Amino acid sequence: MIKKVIFVVLVALILQSAFCAVQAAQPVEIYVNNQKVISDVPPVLQNGRTLAPIRVISEHLGAKVSWNENSKTVKVSLGGKQIELKINDTKAFINQQKVILDVPAKLINGRTMVPLRFIGEALGAEVHWDDKLQRVDVIKRDESEGPLNNLSSVEVVEEDGGLVARLKTTYPATYKSFILGSPYNDDYRLVLDISNAEISAVKPEVLPNEYIKDIRVGQFSVKPYIARVVFDLKGNPNYRIIQSGEEITVIFSRQTSSRGDDENPLSNKIIVIDPGHGGTDPGAVYSGYNEKDFNLDIAIRLKNLLERSGARVLMTRESDVYVNLYTRADIANQAGAHLFVSIHCNASTNASTSGTMTLYYPSPEKKALAQILQKAMVETLGLPDLGISERPNLVVTRETKMPSALVEVAFMSNKQDLALLKTEEFRQKAAEGLYKGILRYFSTK
Ligand SMILES: [Zn+2]
Repeated sequence: MIKKVIFVVLVALILQSAFCAVQAAQPVEIYVNNQKVISDVPPVLQNGRTLAPIRVISEHLGAKVSWNENSKTVKVSLGGKQIELKINDTKAFINQQKVILDVPAKLINGRTMVPLRFIGEALGAEVHWDDKLQRVDVIKRDESEGPLNNLSSVEVVEEDGGLVARLKTTYPATYKSFILGSPYNDDYRLVLDISNAEISAVKPEVLPNEYIKDIRVGQFSVKPYIARVVFDLKGNPNYRIIQSGEEITVIFSRQTSSRGDDENPLSNKIIVIDPGHGGTDPGAVYSGYNEKDFNLDIAIRLKNLLERSGARVLMTRESDVYVNLYTRADIANQAGAHLFVSIHCNASTNASTSGTMTLYYPSPEKKALAQILQKAMVETLGLPDLGISERPNLVVTRETKMPSALVEVAFMSNKQDLALLKTEEFRQKAAEGLYKGILRYFSTK
């Protein structure tokens, strides 16, 4: 009997220490609708409950959050639901109905942390906890999505020297498309995700052709429902996606050469411009000038030049706001952009350093882009050529899945460079240099 008790205690101790080890090694991660939540304050576990920063609730579930400093209460409202919590108080209210929490909201390092499961479920979301992964999944179906759609058929036919894939759904679909992999690695693929859709279609037979190797059809996720169609590409074909009613058509054709004046290399290219810093992050500051303002001004000028040439331009920010670095890369990845260019101005402790340089994440495509942009910038601006520089840890260039580079236009810490940056003429020239580089990049492809 005693032996047995000792055994039980031992097992309990071992289990407990194993659990603590896991807990210490692995921070809690929160996913909302399968998207990882990146937060400056990590969530914490208290008595087996996850407390998350209130910002996670407001930003990712779209709830309205208000804080009353005097009464130390948080009000969360969404779609007719009102939740009220008080710091360190286990009494909470859902539409004025009292509920008792096992873990109250807390102030941790000055941040309001709220019980994630309680709030999530009160707002009509499903909350799942994976103990092994130390991961919380919050699934909130958007009511505005309407009834579940169905991908009912996928057909492929060869037409007019091209390949046409027809995807049929029960209702007109909401979808997004993006490219993964690279034509150089033999893993290049076009992905089409249809939101809020199940699948009854079967994978079509793909006969030998010059555009795609295969098509895969699968339920990417069920919470939320996403039907995914993947086209495994051969080489680097042109493709167009056209939606008409309940049909999405993907047309593959041969990559046309860009010779001849009627061919515009920028037409329909999706280019993401990333003006560095913004909002609470000014970047470099010299003589009262903020880097973030120069970056944005040059970016807007570049946007105008590109749009006039038929490119589709997305900006990671269009005003003086703070944008997370991962969000910046995500904007480009989600859009299936062809190119990502981040604009910055440099600073050095050595005030005599002047010139232009371009940073890139080590990959052949990204390096090639950096070289082209750097050359065009030096030709146009005439500042010293500081060359290109490999940076494996820059988030925006590392996390972007398409060719990307970060251009440091000139040095704010250098008197002459800063004097130039202050002029509209120079900033316009900087935009023209970038434009020239981007045009060359697509012309030589
Ligand atoms: Zn910067």
